[in-house]
Amino acid sequence: VYKMKNISKKYDTKTVLQIEDLAIREGEIFCLVGPSGAGKSTLLRIMNFIETTDTGEIFFLGHKYTPGQTPQLKVTREVTTVFQRSALMTTSVWNNVIYPLKIRGRAISSTETERIKQILDDLGLADLIKQRADKLSGGEAQRVALARAIVFNPSVLLLDEPTANLDPANVDIIEKIISKYVQERKACIVMVTHNIFQARRLADRIALMHKGKMIEIKEKDDFFENPEEKITQDFLSGRL
Ligand code: ATP
Ligand code: MG
Repeated sequence: VYKMKNISKKYDTKTVLQIEDLAIREGEIFCLVGPSGAGKSTLLRIMNFIETTDTGEIFFLGHKYTPGQTPQLKVTREVTTVFQRSALMTTSVWNNVIYPLKIRGRAISSTETERIKQILDDLGLADLIKQRADKLSGGEAQRVALARAIVFNPSVLLLDEPTANLDPANVDIIEKIISKYVQERKACIVMVTHNIFQARRLADRIALMHKGKMIEIKEKDDFFENPEEKITQDFLSGRL
């Protein structure tokens, strides 16, 4: 889905991202882990083309992007991000969830309505459909943000710590719907998580980032069982 070559990103004079070679495969859950400030959110913003790189090339859906290039329209149809702190509008949960469809002029058929209701139900939000989204608890708001992303039905879903600060029941609900979405939609998910147990439960591959660099990328089991880099070993044993 993505292929990135020699991409880098600076804020002022500080290089926050420097990646030589990274490819994300179709249909996989790719988990990004690493300490705070490693550049994980920055990489997601670049993958969503909200932010541009300073150098390098990104191949995405058959198109090559170089620094400063504006994304093609199909990017906004194919890629959706759930940010670390997702903003909801001061209207009902239902209106929040259908908003991305409406602004793109997509009509909501009765089958679509059923599908949306199913997603809200899966996320335990069925009783909150009419409630104002700005009055929700943190966990509820997080689930609404995810529902909104899934309703849009993107082929690429970027998730920035979708279960941060949630209780175990909510974590479980969100993990289930993430797995279900990948299976049913054959979507590709790139997910940042601080929780390595979560990465172990969900990921196909795991990447460790540190100080803007990709330290190690491995198939999930290999990542835990055969970490090659000292930094990965330190990270897994909680010393990073
Ligand atoms: P966390 O786990 O805390 O969310 P992260 O891995 O997502 O961390 P980023 O948010 O990508 O880290 O930030 C990487 C580095 O870039 C940090 O040092 C951060 O201070 C810096 N940074 C991020 N956004 C900006 C910005 N808009 N302007 C200046 N510096 C920024
Ligand atoms: Mg972040």
